[in-house]
Amino acid sequence: MEIVCLDLEGVLIPEVWIAFAEKTGIDDLRATTRDIPDYNILMKQRLEILEKNNFLLKDIQAVISSLEPLPGAKAFLDWLREKFQLVILSDTFYEFSHPFMRKLEWPTLFCHKLLVDSRGRVLDYQLRQDDPKGTSVKAFKSLNYKVFAAGDSYNDISMLSEADTGILIHAPQNVINDFPQFNSVNSYEELKSILINLSDRKLV
Ligand SMILES: [Mg+2]
Repeated sequence: MEIVCLDLEGVLIPEVWIAFAEKTGIDDLRATTRDIPDYNILMKQRLEILEKNNFLLKDIQAVISSLEPLPGAKAFLDWLREKFQLVILSDTFYEFSHPFMRKLEWPTLFCHKLLVDSRGRVLDYQLRQDDPKGTSVKAFKSLNYKVFAAGDSYNDISMLSEADTGILIHAPQNVINDFPQFNSVNSYEELKSILINLSDRKLV
């Protein structure tokens, strides 16, 4: 039994906060974990910016709805779901990812959730668990799945390390340099061929 775990942002869709900053012109929202390594501090700052600009969840979703998955992402997922079990492991929030999931035809997604009040203001967020990606891979292995995982950044390293095979895709050079133990590819076609080679089954 084989399962593929994929990161979402940077792998199948653009970085949501950066794309959102570009669409809205709010430059302060461009910060990522590379600028503020503590995720909780970063998220608190993002929520304050949303509050200051009076963004309700529906406004944010409307902006996100205008964004598209990365070119080729949907076709790649369609191929993958015929050949493997697939779970997307992401540090995004269900409420933000919804418009993209519709465009990708609702693949299984494990991520976090937002706490929203009755007016639709985003008050807070709830992380699913500590080390959510690595813990999920460990859990799949305990269910007798062989796990292949692919991601693009530091928050994927735990998932890639726990997997039977971890692969970097679309990763920036600093991540590739810091983790030379992982194969690194830049296209879905390359990732496909690696997965075909890794599989115990005869795939075409
Ligand atoms: Mg990513």
